[in-house]
Amino acid sequence: MESDGTPDEKPRLKKRSPHVWGDVEVEPGQSVEVSLVVAESYSSLSIPIPVIIQRGLEDGPTVFVTAALHGDEINGTGAIRELVSHRPMNLLRGTLILVPVVNILGFDRHSRYLPDRRDLNRCFPGSMEGSLAARMARMVYDEIIGRSDYGIDLHTAAVRRTNFPNVRADMTNPEVARLAKAFGCEIILSGVGPEGSLRREATEAGCPTIILEAGEVWKVEPGVVEYAINGIHAVLAELRMVEGEVVQPPFQVTIHRTKWVRASRGGFLHFHVRPGDLVRRGTALATNSSITGVENNVLISPAKAIVLGMTTLPAIAPGDPICHLGLIPKRHKELEKIQASLTVEDLHGRVLEHLSTNIRVTDRLEPDSEESETAAPEETKEP
Ligand SMILES: [Zn+2]
Repeated sequence: MESDGTPDEKPRLKKRSPHVWGDVEVEPGQSVEVSLVVAESYSSLSIPIPVIIQRGLEDGPTVFVTAALHGDEINGTGAIRELVSHRPMNLLRGTLILVPVVNILGFDRHSRYLPDRRDLNRCFPGSMEGSLAARMARMVYDEIIGRSDYGIDLHTAAVRRTNFPNVRADMTNPEVARLAKAFGCEIILSGVGPEGSLRREATEAGCPTIILEAGEVWKVEPGVVEYAINGIHAVLAELRMVEGEVVQPPFQVTIHRTKWVRASRGGFLHFHVRPGDLVRRGTALATNSSITGVENNVLISPAKAIVLGMTTLPAIAPGDPICHLGLIPKRHKELEKIQASLTVEDLHGRVLEHLSTNIRVTDRLEPDSEESETAAPEETKEP
């Protein structure tokens, strides 16, 4: 494979001041917007991304919040807009760097990818001699991560899927684990993340970073925005950058293994579970039938788990991913009890309802175990 110019040796992250951006200086108590030129158009015009810097009155850590690193994942963009326009943080200490859209070229095309067909979130730390994606990654690495002590990167499920809000973090790194727990999602997925991803490379370079995976592409979903804003606030509170009450989740579970349940036959699905539901071994996930309603088979859960994410498209072919399960071998009963007590008054209960409003979910009556089949599960790759 042709090299994209990324050097084998990773660059050392050069620390920069979060208060000096070219000619612009951010004074204590100020909020400033700057433009960061990340690319150039075919007509030689500069392509900038907006960056908002908020500085508290006292010194403290610097935290970045990035969104739309995948250009079609705009729930985080909506959350940052909400933070800036309607729910500004009263920042007492430290500095907050907000980047509502990282992948501006993908964002303009409603696409996950860059025009060079690369995934920007696999190109970190990047190189200024490399591909378009490598150059953009390097710019973000130097200018944003280089100015930060901690990071939060906001994502959604890939196209045609949705995710119940979950944090992904390397829980073996104590500072990353601290952020992940503080963020306050019920579900934490432990892992370092794919090679070349922003959070992995930022963490490796000494800037502990977590990601939120929540909701769908091409949408700003109210419950997801609430999760994101609560989480950002809770992390800043943990770092003593803001004051105020932190919303505690009804439970918190760290997941070490996940499985994808895939379709074994082509057909048209009828779902029996929602994103966020707890399932047991044998729970019917979806019934696969022909388009005239003749049942092909029933996809069932292979283990005790929570539905992290699932397809929103009922038309499926063999091999299509249907349900992403986070395995919960212990505490399952306890969590079932807690979840059963939740109502739409709770954010968790509300998001369980909201995320499933655009997919038809019904109970499965009398599953016949002989006709049911367990789809061969497989290990996950992060989307
Ligand atoms: Zn993403």
